[in-house]
Amino acid sequence: MTRRWLFADQLGPHFATGRDGVLLVESRAALRRRRYHRQKLHLVLSALRHRAAELGGSALRLRTDTYGEALAQLGEPVRVYEPTSYAADAFVRRRLQTGEVEGVDPTPGYSLPRQEFARWAGGRRQLRMEDFYRFQRQRLDLLVEGDRPTGGRWSFDDENREPPPKGARTLGVPAAYRPRESDIDAEVRDDLDRWERDEGLETVGHDGPRLFAVTRREALAALERFVAHRLGAFGPHEDAMLRGDWTMAHSLLSVPLNLGLLSPVEVAERAVQAFHDGDAPLASVEGFVRQVVGWREYVWHTYWHFGPAYRHRNGLGATATIPAWFDDLESDRVTAACLSDVLEGVRDRGWVHHIPRLMVLGNWAAQRGYDPDSLTEWFQTRFVDGYDWVMPPNVVGMSQHADGGAMATKPYVSGGAYIDRMSDYCGSCRYDPRKRVGDDACPFTAGYWAYLERNAERLEGNHRMARPLQGRHRLSDLEALVEQERARGDDPP
Ligand SMILES: Cc1cc2nc3c(=O)[nH]c(=O)nc-3n(C[C@H](O)[C@H](O)[C@H](O)COP(=O)(O)OP(=O)(O)OC[C@H]3O[C@@H](n4cnc5c(N)ncnc54)[C@H](O)[C@@H]3O)c2cc1C
Ligand code: SF4
Repeated sequence: MTRRWLFADQLGPHFATGRDGVLLVESRAALRRRRYHRQKLHLVLSALRHRAAELGGSALRLRTDTYGEALAQLGEPVRVYEPTSYAADAFVRRRLQTGEVEGVDPTPGYSLPRQEFARWAGGRRQLRMEDFYRFQRQRLDLLVEGDRPTGGRWSFDDENREPPPKGARTLGVPAAYRPRESDIDAEVRDDLDRWERDEGLETVGHDGPRLFAVTRREALAALERFVAHRLGAFGPHEDAMLRGDWTMAHSLLSVPLNLGLLSPVEVAERAVQAFHDGDAPLASVEGFVRQVVGWREYVWHTYWHFGPAYRHRNGLGATATIPAWFDDLESDRVTAACLSDVLEGVRDRGWVHHIPRLMVLGNWAAQRGYDPDSLTEWFQTRFVDGYDWVMPPNVVGMSQHADGGAMATKPYVSGGAYIDRMSDYCGSCRYDPRKRVGDDACPFTAGYWAYLERNAERLEGNHRMARPLQGRHRLSDLEALVEQERARGDDPP
C-alpha cells in the first residue's frame, strides 16, 4: 500500500479515512517563503498538528526544511491528490518523473472534477458565473425541482442586498462558533514566537486567540451553529457592514473549507436541509448555496482555466507601489473611518467579510492604481483564508478588473455613496461621502472620479461603463479633483 501525502489544505476525512498510511509534512521553508499573517501560520500549523494527532499511528508527520527533504527522508513513493497551486503542481509533476510521487489523483476537495469543468467551458465565449452556478445546482440537485429552481427563481440577489438595519450597531444575531484553544495551539504559539524571535521568521498582523475551526469536529460545530442561528439572517445583510459587528451573519467557514475539513457539497446540502426543515428562508439559503458551490467552485476552476500567466495580467496598466501603511496594516495612521476599521480587522484577525474586501480594500487599491500582481500577493498573505488558487480570480479578475473583463463585466469601483448606504461608517468619519473636493472630501468619492478619468480610454469600449464615464463630463470640479487626489500621493487618507 502506498502512503498518501496530504497537503495542509487536504485535512478532512474525504481526503483520507485514517485506514491508509498518511504523510503530513511541516515545511519550515514554506512558512518562511512569504510574510504571512501571524494568525494564518497559526491556523495552518494548528490544523496540521491536530490532524496528525487524530490520525495517530497511521500518520507519519515529518518536520523538515523543504518538501523535497521530506520525500528523501521517507525514502518510498507516495500518492497525492491534485494540489491547489501551480507551484505545488509543478513540484508534484517533477517528483512524478523521479518516481518519488507514484500518482496524482483528482482532488475530492471540490465538487466538479477539472475535466468536467473543461467540458462545460468548452466552446463558451464567456464563462459566466451565473451559468456555471445553475449548472452546479442542477447537477448537484440543490434547490431544484425537475428542471426548475425551487421558488421559481435561480437568484434571490435582489432580496439579498439590503443595507444594515437603520440605527443598528450590530445585526443582533447569535455569535458565530468560537473554538476553544488546545495544548496544540499553545505549542504552535510557542514555536511561532520562538521562530520569530530567534530564527528571523517574519509575519504581519497581530497574534490573537484562534477564531476559526481547524479540526473536523470544530468545523462541523461551526457549520451547525451557523445553520441553526445565523443562516436565516445571512441573505438580506450579506453585503452590509457595521463597525460594531465584524462577522455580521457570515459563516466564517472559509478557513475550514480551504483547509479541506468540510466538503462544499456537504455544506451546501446542510443549508438546503435547513430550508426544507423550515428553519431558514429560501432567499438566504439560495444566497449561501450560491457562494459555496457557485462562487467558490467557479473561482477554483477559473484559476486553472485561465492559466498561470493570468495572475500577472494588468489590463488597466496599474503600476503604483503599495504604500507601507497599507502593506503593514497600519490602521491607526488612517483617518477614513471605513478603511481604518477594515485594515484594523485584517491586522487583528486576518479576516473581514466579502464586501470590505471588495468594496473597501479592493476599491481603494483600484482607485489608487496599485499593481494587481502585488495586490494579489498582499491579499494572499494578509488573510487567514488566503490561498494561491483563490486569489487571482478574486483580485486580478473581480476586484481589479485587470483581466480585460474575462471574469467581471465591469470594475467593482464606487464612491463613498455606496459605502454610506451599506454601512454605518460615514456618520463617524471626518470626511463627507457627498463631497468631492475640499478638506472633508471623501477620498473614495474623489478617488472614484479620478479612477474614471485615468482609465477613461481603457474602459471606453465597456458599455456598462458608458454612463459613469459620461457622468464625469458633468463635473465642474474634475480638474481640481484630479489634482487633489494626485497631491494626496501615498499618504494614508
Ligand atoms: C478581493 C477578495 C479577496 C478574497 N480572498 C479570499 C481568500 O483569500 N480566501 C477565500 O476563501 N475567499 C476569499 N474571498 C471570497 C470571500 O470574500 C470569502 O470567501 C469570505 O469573505 C469568507 O468568509 P465566510 O466564510 O464568512 O464567507 P460567507 O460569506 O459565509 O460565504 C460562504 C463561503 O462561500 C465561499 N465563497 C464565497 N465567495 C467566494 C469567492 N469569491 N471566492 C472563494 N470562495 C468564496 C467561501 O468558501 C465562504 O466560506 C475574497 C474575495 C475578494 C473580493
Ligand atoms: S466618508 Fe468616505 S472615507 Fe469616510 S467612511 Fe464614508 S466612504 Fe469611507
